[in-house]
Amino acid sequence: MDMFGISPRREFGQNFLINDAIPKRIADAAVGEFSGGACALEIGPGIGALTRELAARCRRVLAVEIDSALIPVLEYTLCGLDAVEVVNRDILDCDIDKLARDAFGGSEFHVCANLPYYITTPIIMRLLEHGGELLRSVTVMVQSEVADRLTASPATPEYGAISASVAYHGRAKKLFSVSAGNFLPAPKVNSAVVKIDLYRKDDRPVCAADDAMLGRVVAGAFGQRRKTLSNSLASAFPEIGRDRIASVISSLGLDPRVRGEALGIETFAALADAISAELSADAPHG
Ligand code: SAM
Repeated sequence: MDMFGISPRREFGQNFLINDAIPKRIADAAVGEFSGGACALEIGPGIGALTRELAARCRRVLAVEIDSALIPVLEYTLCGLDAVEVVNRDILDCDIDKLARDAFGGSEFHVCANLPYYITTPIIMRLLEHGGELLRSVTVMVQSEVADRLTASPATPEYGAISASVAYHGRAKKLFSVSAGNFLPAPKVNSAVVKIDLYRKDDRPVCAADDAMLGRVVAGAFGQRRKTLSNSLASAFPEIGRDRIASVISSLGLDPRVRGEALGIETFAALADAISAELSADAPHG
């Protein structure tokens, strides 16, 4: 980086991997089993440590980097790797499904990233909800506590909206921990790598009629953690009203004092379907 007169930028969550063994392990976890045929989308290539390992294992790698100062560095570090394309964009402004279809010609793909910690949750939510049918897995390095949240079960302290969303879209596994000394600069926290294998829409063990409604129910249930489900959903769905929310909850055999953090994804899907039915009962019929 000295050669290019740049230093890591905090505002972009830049903590670069400096131990070669770690990107190798992450790339193996993400695409190793596909031995050369896979396509990978990397979010935040930085100076290219993980990109190089993905290029060694993939047919095609698309790397999306927000920091334009890193583009000349990547041109240098990735020189000669024909499988790799770097684009200078903010991943949160991208239509990920379209970007991947254009880059990979309609092939299935895998996301692999050492995520910038300041936007971990928005990126993961976007991948889950808008990654498209061709996205098969997401392998990400995140803060250890976030890894615990991504893989948490109901009724544990770590369980939250993101745990329920991950459980709806796929199966998540914490693979290994990475200590702070493997990064430059060293973050204040340890990290861990999580892989989420995504379900195909037809193979989901739990399926709500409307994914957007499920997202709204989960967000509403965890919006005010100390409140009962009944109160949280009454705030999240003012158009339905407190009494009807209470009867939806009791129609599913749930204790009205239950809290969102006790509920598994099956129950959230049942709630989403019941609330959709309430709303469509209100809709004017043509
Ligand atoms: N992959 C590199 C590594 O492992 O050494 C860098 C990882 S660093 C933790 C996060 C990277 O994400 C940085 O390069 C940063 O500039 C980039 N980044 C941050 N926000 C981004 C965004 N919204 N879209 C795309 N890249 C982003």
